[in-house]
Amino acid sequence: MNASHPQGTLFVVAAPSGAGKSTLVNALLEREPSISLSISHTTRPPRPGEAYGQHYYFVEREAFEQEVADGIFLEHAEVHGNLYGTSRRTVQELMAQGRDVLLEIDWQGAQQIRVTMPDCVSVFILPPSRVELERRLRGRASDSDEVIERRLRNSREEIAHAHEFDYIIVNDRFEDALDDLQAIVRAVRLRTPLQRARHQVLIDELLGAGP
Ligand code: 5GP
Repeated sequence: MNASHPQGTLFVVAAPSGAGKSTLVNALLEREPSISLSISHTTRPPRPGEAYGQHYYFVEREAFEQEVADGIFLEHAEVHGNLYGTSRRTVQELMAQGRDVLLEIDWQGAQQIRVTMPDCVSVFILPPSRVELERRLRGRASDSDEVIERRLRNSREEIAHAHEFDYIIVNDRFEDALDDLQAIVRAVRLRTPLQRARHQVLIDELLGAGP
């Protein structure tokens, strides 16, 4: 850590599909544009409107497996039958520049990150009810019935890991959940080690000679 820019914080956000995680994260990034969202690699085919390099780096399974063998991923996992992974280099470079980085990943990836990056801050988003989770999943017209059923089945496994996270937010009223997520980011940024590094000159001045 250096005084002018302490290393950035790594935020990990997970949720079952349909909890509203991406919408919340995108709204957080509008409020806190200094956070960088890590763009994952995936073997999932793009949904309508998704662009390469903007939502994901879409790759073939063979290419992904080669990238795993090359060790390019900070974490990777199979989720709903597709492979997903976070590039180690991008995350570490951004953090070294003092940027906060946010990963939108599943519980398996979060477990791996806690081992390699123990200072990460992890947040789990819950839907307000099972009925609402299903309603939100079915509202996403771009997914087939089969994909929706699979995501609903898998939601239990994801939610069973909620207790491993540092924070849990219930996304009932969107604005409240967004305020909660932003409150976590802001509180983390005020932690003493970070504040001391940022404000050492001020602290020295306040402690300096004088009455
Ligand atoms: P989706 O296909 O709906 O975009 O994402 C499906 C699930 O994969 C979500 O839970 C999402 O958070 C997770 N996911 C997306 N990118 C990654 C990643 O890089 N690593 C891991 N472990 N999970 C990811």
